[in-house]
Amino acid sequence: MESMEQQIREVLEQIPFSDNGGNILTSEVVHSLELSGETANVVLVIGDDYQGIKEETVAKVEQGLKSIDGISEVNAKVVSSKADAEPQQQQAGPNPESPEQANYLQEYENVILVASGKGGVGKSTVAINLALALKASGKKVSIMDADVYGPSVPIMLGRRNEPLQMEGQQVKPLNQYGIDFISVGNMVKEDQALIWRGPMTHQVIQQMLRDTAWPGGDYMIVDLPPGTGDVQLSMAQMTEATGAVIVCTPQDVALLDARKAIAMFGKVNIPVLGMIENMSAFVCPKCGEETPIFAKGGAERESASQDVAYIGGVPIEMDIRLGSDNGDPIVNANPNSASAKVFMEMAAKLDQIVSEAK
Ligand code: ADP
Repeated sequence: MESMEQQIREVLEQIPFSDNGGNILTSEVVHSLELSGETANVVLVIGDDYQGIKEETVAKVEQGLKSIDGISEVNAKVVSSKADAEPQQQQAGPNPESPEQANYLQEYENVILVASGKGGVGKSTVAINLALALKASGKKVSIMDADVYGPSVPIMLGRRNEPLQMEGQQVKPLNQYGIDFISVGNMVKEDQALIWRGPMTHQVIQQMLRDTAWPGGDYMIVDLPPGTGDVQLSMAQMTEATGAVIVCTPQDVALLDARKAIAMFGKVNIPVLGMIENMSAFVCPKCGEETPIFAKGGAERESASQDVAYIGGVPIEMDIRLGSDNGDPIVNANPNSASAKVFMEMAAKLDQIVSEAK
């Protein structure tokens, strides 16, 4: 069965907006949507130019959401600009002009933010296998899944749907394959997934940082959401991260997004430690021949032109996908495989970069 979030997305995608065939999701009309029991609280941003279709759009949202099993009430609030939709953000949310500084995760020697310019490039797969490779090389490692929009760490570590327990006043991280981790995926039921926005994401990130009984260690690997949004700012304000690692695929379009991510980390004074090229080339499992499906080498060239280190390239491989999707990542499932060795080499390189940066 489809998750509640998928059903909501599908319904909202059916509601047209703008002249170019867009819908209310692609046109960023839906500012936030939160479920409280059977009630959906939704905030819509409809600018002055679109007042003519305001009522019709609201009616479609109400009708569409109510057609979903489990939603019986819809509270729709319409504002005319994004700024009006975020009044609390000025007080509680991330504000790059006057950041509310905190310094969580000090019990870790290194805090590494794994980032990508866009979704689906294999950021979580890389983050988890890199964490496992660091662990295999003797480091004490934790993972914080800060990808609140699409938390995949519980799935990839085989601990889907498992609720978190308390340890005194704090939440106890789960432990899998010797790694302590926490994820929004374990904090809310999958079928009650929320579409997080601004101030809410800041709060949930703060909770993960402040209210978790993190054991400390050599490395905290943080799986960020794709892009350059609120969570990145929250992390910049509430931790002193050692640096960011940018995951991208070799195609130009992903690289352009990666460039934006690098620029954003520059603005919030987080060093970019290096780039990792994922889906670098396809190695045929039958004949061993290498095919550069996405034009191998893009990230290496890009890292040189951006003056950041190139940490390594990961091939596209069926076993990597199966490992991630089945909850047993390749570095753990098959540590002697060529791909696991690639991750071990990248972990060693990252460790070297980090120690040289000190
Ligand atoms: P992101 O975190 O960037 O959204 P994921 O790590 O969730 O991306 O990966 C997206 C999909 O691609 C997953 O199904 C994952 O198993 C698969 N995948 C990621 N990297 C590889 C790879 N190197 N080879 C094969 N499949 C991969």
